[in-house]
Amino acid sequence: MEKILIVGCKRTMDSVCIACSRCMVAFNRREGEFSRYKDQEAQLLGILSCGDCPGAGIVTRLAQINLWNKPMGEKPTKVHIAPCILDHCPHKEPIINKIKAKAGVEVIEGTHPYKPENIFA
Ligand code: SF4
Repeated sequence: MEKILIVGCKRTMDSVCIACSRCMVAFNRREGEFSRYKDQEAQLLGILSCGDCPGAGIVTRLAQINLWNKPMGEKPTKVHIAPCILDHCPHKEPIINKIKAKAGVEVIEGTHPYKPENIFA
């Protein structure tokens, strides 16, 4: 069973990207980068923010996820980096590198595929 942790941008999550629903819809439908779980059991464990600019707290926040879920015997088996970081964060390189260095599980760049091509057409 895969347990998925999504990491996104604190300044975007549930603010610019309302309710983080595009990530959740993509997970439920197994679309975008979640299509890799089409034929296997997978659950969404959480959607974690970077902790705010410049993302200096990300490793601590990963450790907190572990502590927080320990009593339930849950921990992530995969980390997905959301488009709000991949497409917009000026600090994304160090943030992603730190997550890759410390997570101890596979880190996948991407979540949902629902980026609008244009606004007014
Ligand atoms: S560090 Fe990047 S991901 Fe985090 S709040 Fe700032 S812009 Fe968003």
